[in-house]
Amino acid sequence: MFKFIFGPVSSRRFGLSLGVDLSPNKKQCNFDCLYCELKGAKAVDTMQNPPPPKEIIDEIKRALEKYPDVDVITVTANGEPMLYPHLKELAQQINAFKNNKKLLILSNGALINDKSVQEALLEFDIVKLSLDAVTPRVFKKLDRAHKSVNLERMLEGTKEFACNFKNELVLETLVIKNINDTRDDFLALNRVVNEIKPSRIDLGTIDRPSAYKVSPVSFETLEILSREIEHIPLVIIKRNRIKNQKEFSCNEIIELLRRRPQSAEDIDDLFDEKSKIQLNKLLNEGKANIVNAAGVIFYKIS
Ligand code: SF4
Repeated sequence: MFKFIFGPVSSRRFGLSLGVDLSPNKKQCNFDCLYCELKGAKAVDTMQNPPPPKEIIDEIKRALEKYPDVDVITVTANGEPMLYPHLKELAQQINAFKNNKKLLILSNGALINDKSVQEALLEFDIVKLSLDAVTPRVFKKLDRAHKSVNLERMLEGTKEFACNFKNELVLETLVIKNINDTRDDFLALNRVVNEIKPSRIDLGTIDRPSAYKVSPVSFETLEILSREIEHIPLVIIKRNRIKNQKEFSCNEIIELLRRRPQSAEDIDDLFDEKSKIQLNKLLNEGKANIVNAAGVIFYKIS
């Protein structure tokens, strides 16, 4: 018998999450990313032996009886969940009993140009897609996709989906040393994410053993590269928070927020007490406001 559930695990960004693995017996993915935390495996374009939705639903219901405080049901796979052929049916069935819990999917986005996949994704409260590369050269080197996957169609599909999706779309970019860590990579990424306009972008690097030999970038590199991303709320995923507080003038705060909303965590790490008072003043005057982007609080200019 397959075991579909893992967790619950606590996540700063999404709360208490119950993981649902759609490919519990082996890795099945249309990418073979250099940084994958699973063992490297040849990319595939179909899922073998997909489990019937009923088996998965029964196990989710049992798990929710045990863990009623779960905030989010996270659909993922030992590989790629969009390869699961009954995704829409599964999501609809979960929506029928999940009440106010959020339904989240974590995906590499490779199949998002497929209309039936887009229809399935519309059933989710939060769709989180990886977007490590927007140029064919870097995409080929880093994500090593199955030959059926086309980057251009993938990006077009993401833009189209983003236009139709009323819930929260989050993108995640993992930065790997000497592969996608240049200013040019990020200028190109900035152009694409500003066409997609996600609710949020998460920026991180590897911090666990990976399938192939690759190296992480430093937190400082992430911080420098993040400055190229404009207008979109961005979170740098930090395992260890680094506080580097300094004083910002009122105008500097306005400029900073105009360029890109800043997360509450970043404000806490970067702003000294005086700057926080200035920020509160801007909030009280209605010049800045607070928004929630897929579970993360951001300060932005009004
Ligand atoms: S998309 Fe995810 S599961 Fe697939 S190879 Fe890349 S990191 Fe691994």
